[in-house]
Amino acid sequence: MPKMAGRSNNTGVFWLDRLKKLRKQLLEQGLDGILILEPDNRRYLSGFSGSSGALLITSSEALLFTDFRYMEQAAAQAPSFRVIKHGQVIWDDLAGYARGLANLAFEQNFVTYEQFRLLQEKFTESRLVPVAGFVENLRSIKEDVELAEIRRACELADRAFSHILTWLEPGMTELEIALELEFFMRRNGASASAFEFIVASGPRSSLPHGVASGRRAARGDILTMDFGCVVNGYCSDITRTVVIGEASDKQREIYRVVLEAQMAALSALRAGMSGQEVDKVAREIISRSGYGENFGHGLGHSVGLAVHEEPRLSPAGLRVLEPGMVVTVEPGIYLPDWGGVRIEDMVVVTENGCSLLTKSPKELIIL
Ligand code: ZN
Ligand code: ZN
Repeated sequence: MPKMAGRSNNTGVFWLDRLKKLRKQLLEQGLDGILILEPDNRRYLSGFSGSSGALLITSSEALLFTDFRYMEQAAAQAPSFRVIKHGQVIWDDLAGYARGLANLAFEQNFVTYEQFRLLQEKFTESRLVPVAGFVENLRSIKEDVELAEIRRACELADRAFSHILTWLEPGMTELEIALELEFFMRRNGASASAFEFIVASGPRSSLPHGVASGRRAARGDILTMDFGCVVNGYCSDITRTVVIGEASDKQREIYRVVLEAQMAALSALRAGMSGQEVDKVAREIISRSGYGENFGHGLGHSVGLAVHEEPRLSPAGLRVLEPGMVVTVEPGIYLPDWGGVRIEDMVVVTENGCSLLTKSPKELIIL
């Protein structure tokens, strides 16, 4: 396997391998080429991390179109692509290179109606074929080079959690706590936050996606922190719930049920199970305890270049898990006007089980 350091600037064999797999799919579907516009797909295939550009991949060509600002960066990051500077209207240049391609695929879940209209106008020689999941399916199985980055992102999140435990004091606002988590991870090498952090205290913790507010965390409050960072493009995502001051019996009880559900799902999870089956393991434990109605979201999602990727662990998750997939396991119980508890870890799926990528402690912590 190529070394991590070479990820952004060498002709690592995995770049060519990704192209090879994509071309195989094109061939199987009778397609002559594919236009890639979605930024994470573009980065996954080419290595180019700039904010603007498009790929055109055919059986013999791999072209990256970008503008003046990114020419130098694109050449360094995407050595397996021919980099082409486009003019004012990217579609004009693209159409020139796509001439003669009878069946040209585009990403149906990403291209806007306006873009589609322009494609139809400019690509007059091609039949435009909507496709979904071509690159996303490749991305769902993480290579060793990707796992190395994901591990680093998870390690930083774990370190941020232990830092916040020593730093946090009652009376601090959720916003201050979210900011400190972000500062810590960025100071230690993260390039960005993976998403807008959820820091929800007291009754606000019943909001599964309660982003940090000005509320001050007080003694007796539950405090849910859902956060993660980005390292070389790859995300981490972890949730820990703690109690400030003293925990009530009910808080302990809810925490115990969520933890039991999470541990059961973690020990069941393995390649060959569907997302639905894993979800069911946790959901049954929560339902049996009488809180089924209070666990209203799926058990987990895949993580990679994006923080929410396919496949999902949920009642609708039909896809079967494969070794190398990276998913979260995050059951929760949310009681309106009272509060909520969620515990979330990231794991990599293996043949016989899964192994934890986030390793922060999970016994109930009272601060
Ligand atoms: Zn999360
Ligand atoms: Zn998550």
